[in-house]
Amino acid sequence: MGRCPRARDGASRGPGAVAARGGSDAGLGWTDGTCRYCLSGRENLCESARFTGYDLDGGYAEWIVADERYCLPLPDGYDDLQVAPLLCAGLIGYRSLRLAGDPERLGLYGFGASAHIVVQVARHEGRRVFGFVRPGDDAGAAFALELGCEWAGPSDVPGPEELDAAIIFAPAGELVPAALRALARGGVVVCAGIHMSDIPSFPYELLWEERVVRSVANLTRRDGEEFLALAPRVPVRTEVEAFPLEQANEALERLRRGQIRGAAVLRVER
Ligand SMILES: [Zn+2]
Repeated sequence: MGRCPRARDGASRGPGAVAARGGSDAGLGWTDGTCRYCLSGRENLCESARFTGYDLDGGYAEWIVADERYCLPLPDGYDDLQVAPLLCAGLIGYRSLRLAGDPERLGLYGFGASAHIVVQVARHEGRRVFGFVRPGDDAGAAFALELGCEWAGPSDVPGPEELDAAIIFAPAGELVPAALRALARGGVVVCAGIHMSDIPSFPYELLWEERVVRSVANLTRRDGEEFLALAPRVPVRTEVEAFPLEQANEALERLRRGQIRGAAVLRVER
């Protein structure tokens, strides 16, 4: 998902979606609508999906031509920097939460851009949330507590109570058996990342009693519509650190080192 900027006035509204949606900001995506996945309500798995900033240019342009059916209007009340993390980080977090079922006790592993949004949605839904951070990451644990986790602690050992679901945002395979160890019977571990290091082998006993391990990939337009309607009602507040586009590599490096609080957002200077 990318986003296209707000149309400044009626006369200068650009072509396509922005005009059709009344000049509001929009998030963009594209799927073919014809493959077996699209035709069965699973367009997030589309074989021909194209992503702004990856397959398609224009994600940082002032104007972009887009297919109206694939534009998600962004909620009012957020400034440009604050709304940006609702797209990738917020949306994948939202889908991960839906795939986690209806947990009373939810564990979040890795407290970055996605988790800092998901915890707010989960609390809004009345769930109890437990934050798991890198051992020794006191700042991360404090951030998790600030955002509404009732407990925060190291990810290598189970928390104070069994979990009904866990979402893993950190790309560390060893967290899969660690999260399984923290689960109650019938619980689910959702791996929300695109990449993850190898998962170490673990005894079948950890999976026994109908525990589930699954991944989450991309999102459907329905996820987008649901989440972007829900976010202002929570209301989700995002914490961002802005970098000029020219410093994208530095932003990535700081992200890798776990030095970003909330979400990193790239800003194009005009
Ligand atoms: Zn498709």
